[in-house]
Amino acid sequence: MAMVVCEPCRDCMFTDCVVVCPCECFYQDERMLYIDPEHCIDCEACIPECPVEAIYGDSKVPEPWTHFIALNAERSAVLKVLGRHVTEKQPPLKARV
Ligand code: SF4
Ligand code: SF4
Repeated sequence: MAMVVCEPCRDCMFTDCVVVCPCECFYQDERMLYIDPEHCIDCEACIPECPVEAIYGDSKVPEPWTHFIALNAERSAVLKVLGRHVTEKQPPLKARV
C-alpha cells in the first residue's frame, strides 16, 4: 500500500505533509504534490497533517479520485527526473502568486 495525494491538494500546496514524511516521498509540479509509491512506507504520518484531507491510503481513495493512484506514481516518476523533490515546508500556493 502507499499513500495517494488527491484532488483537494490542487492549488493548495500548504506542504504541511512534507515535513513529517520520514522517507521524503513528495514531489511537486505547479499545481499539487504527489507521493512516490515506491518509497512510501505507509506510516500514515502525513494524513492528519493535511488541512484539506487530500491524502488517503491507496485502498481507501474515494471513488471519484481513484485515477489519482496512477497519477501519483506517474507524476512522481517524471518529477523525480526533473528535480522537483520537495522536503521542506513552503509558502502556500496562493501566497506565491
Ligand atoms: S498538506 Fe495536503 S494540501 Fe497541503 S501539500 Fe500536503 S497533500 Fe497537498
Ligand atoms: S505515509 Fe509516511 S512515508 Fe508515506 S508519504 Fe506519508 S509520511 Fe511519507
